[in-house]
Amino acid sequence: MVSSSRVPSSGQLDYIAPKSCTKCPRLAQFIASKKQSHPHWHNAPVPSFGPIDAEVLVVGLAPGLKGANATGRPFTGDFAGNVLYQALASHNYCSGQFSPDGRDNLVLHNIRIINAVRCVPPQNKPDASEIANCRGYLKTELTKMTRLKVMFALGRIAHDTCLTHFGLRKSAYPFSHGSAHKLPNGLWLVSSYHCSRYNIQTNRLTQTQFTQAVGQIASYI
Ligand code: SF4
Repeated sequence: MVSSSRVPSSGQLDYIAPKSCTKCPRLAQFIASKKQSHPHWHNAPVPSFGPIDAEVLVVGLAPGLKGANATGRPFTGDFAGNVLYQALASHNYCSGQFSPDGRDNLVLHNIRIINAVRCVPPQNKPDASEIANCRGYLKTELTKMTRLKVMFALGRIAHDTCLTHFGLRKSAYPFSHGSAHKLPNGLWLVSSYHCSRYNIQTNRLTQTQFTQAVGQIASYI
């Protein structure tokens, strides 16, 4: 599926968090070490991907070390991304070719993708202060997304990040796979288990179930 064309989808990449952001010292240090060992990787906060006037915002957890942190595009280059983009393609949220190295002509339609934490964390585990720091960029994102109707959260951390952003109690809007809550501001929060390799390989989530969850989004737009 590798395309010879050069990253037209980069026109949909948007640095809400500046590349120079170092609000999280542990993450900045981790990225600095990867710049030494892998100088050709992206190694910076990962930009948002997709049109700013989209009605749907996918909220993931954090960039994968060899995925988005390497390619510079959310969910591109790792297992979770392959699952996500396949599901998005099934429901016409994207067109063009997808390549795991991001050198493709993939274009998103009416959907934008971000991570709750925009820098790669060690062991894929951001801490609470890092989640809180990066929530400031979610606020910027949401201010700009004036047509937004649905937030599609991948996993509990993303789900809780959305609720915390709006000052809502987690107990009032519990996370579960397939949950859909209408928030007081009119937005829908639709959630799924994260499409991670771990969840798929342990059968917590199948590709079919995930694709069905993505299909559910349309009923809230
Ligand atoms: S995770 Fe977010 S707040 Fe923290 S350094 Fe990266 S971009 Fe900045």
